[in-house]
Amino acid sequence: MEDDRLIPLSYISQYYFCKRRAGLLLVERQWKENEYTAAGRIEHEKVHIQGEERRRGAVYMSDMPVKSQRLNLFGRCDMTEAYPDPEGSVFPFLDEKKYILFPIEYKHGNLRSSAEYELQLCAQALCLEEMYNCRIERGALFYIGSHRRKEVVFTDEQRALAEKAAEKLSEMSESGEVPKAESSAKCLKCSLRDICLPDLSGSADEYMKKIYSSFREETE
Ligand code: SF4
Repeated sequence: MEDDRLIPLSYISQYYFCKRRAGLLLVERQWKENEYTAAGRIEHEKVHIQGEERRRGAVYMSDMPVKSQRLNLFGRCDMTEAYPDPEGSVFPFLDEKKYILFPIEYKHGNLRSSAEYELQLCAQALCLEEMYNCRIERGALFYIGSHRRKEVVFTDEQRALAEKAAEKLSEMSESGEVPKAESSAKCLKCSLRDICLPDLSGSADEYMKKIYSSFREETE
């Protein structure tokens, strides 16, 4: 797959948040900011400064670029920590010692559970594994608002779900088909709500039935 056709890693979490939102972003290149996306973007911009720091044998690397030809993904790891470990691997960007990598994705707000963020992080680990022929067992989500980390163990199930999303996103990109809207509570926070029009989801027939039925109710 050509590099310019690789799909941003963050779309893995978009896909599990809402397939239609992922399609609108990926296929129709739609984007609209709201208070939630603005807060996330501003906090994220502060951590996207490339650099490396060494403390007590560990290496802390920020904004590391990653990609996977197998999964057709690319992106950046907000923070990648490397810890010396005899069971680890040798990396070309470190010294001759063996290390294990520990990716960290920064998220705005306070500590919370979020399966879609965990899958995005898992996809980052899959990219690093493919690039450096290593194994990454765990990583963490760091919530900027509360300055707290949630450790994530990359299970086989998570790996399979991240791979599935990558496959579905590639199919969506190839076909150009955007999934239909499924109206839910998530739509209230979605910045693409005005573009998506989730309440008008379904076929044109269903839409016309809704119009006729509301018209009948008004005239009865
Ligand atoms: S408005 Fe709802 S259905 Fe539409 S993209 Fe957003 S979350 Fe998905």
